[in-house]
Amino acid sequence: MTGTVYLVGAGPGDPGLLTLRGAELLRGADVVVYDRLVSGELLDFAPPWAELVYAGKAPAQAAIDQGSINALLVDRAREGKVVVRLKGGDPFVFGRGGEEALACAAAGVPFEVVPGVTSAVAAPAFAGIPVTHRGIAASVAVVTASGAAGTDVDLEPAARSADTLVVLMAAGRLRAVCDALMRSGRATTEPAALIQWASTKNQRTLTAPLGDIAAAAQEAKMGAPATLVVGKVVDLSSRLAWFDPGLYARTAPAVSAPA
Ligand code: SAH
Repeated sequence: MTGTVYLVGAGPGDPGLLTLRGAELLRGADVVVYDRLVSGELLDFAPPWAELVYAGKAPAQAAIDQGSINALLVDRAREGKVVVRLKGGDPFVFGRGGEEALACAAAGVPFEVVPGVTSAVAAPAFAGIPVTHRGIAASVAVVTASGAAGTDVDLEPAARSADTLVVLMAAGRLRAVCDALMRSGRATTEPAALIQWASTKNQRTLTAPLGDIAAAAQEAKMGAPATLVVGKVVDLSSRLAWFDPGLYARTAPAVSAPA
């Protein structure tokens, strides 16, 4: 019997943001193939006998290339195994989950997609920035700063049409991204935020006008993984920044029976 490949979103970093379905599948996994940005604590959900395969993915390098990852998922499933492909954020948001699903489909291997909490929404949320807000932003575009094979992406259509812009994979080319957005009509004075390591104890947030944020980020030595947010909603963070990485304990409030 062929096994199944589960493409599971691990969320942005905090293990508490894995879905219940994701946790349930990890508990029953024979094989877990995981990415660099996946919290190590999530691997503890897998049984001790599960095969754990690190699939790398630092910017511009990969421990295993995409073709080999696809082949591994298909091969293990054909051995009848329960294969969990654990991916940062959501598997279908700039995670190449679509390619892995296509490989399974082409091989006739059953697969399931378990959506995750994407950093495109979670990173702003952990900085107190709602990506939409009544009267302030009625649309949001999620774009990548880096296309296939590291090519530039045309940011203009998104920059011209969406109130809020969320740019992933921007850290390494922040100046070029900000310049492109300003050339596309975004004001140099528009509020912007860069959020690094969102939802973890290492979270850092930088806010500055779009025209200044690249220099400020360089000064602050903020690198990957970071998410750039551009738009009026960023101003809300001065009142809504709720997350204190130093104090954050991942414990839920105690449950007591109603009196
Ligand atoms: N599938 C993932 C995105 C993968 S691309 C998702 O849905 O979140 C990797 C990019 O995601 C990084 O370059 C960065 O822009 C963003 N990212 C991932 N984790 C992050 C984090 N904890 N804080 C801020 N940005 C993060």
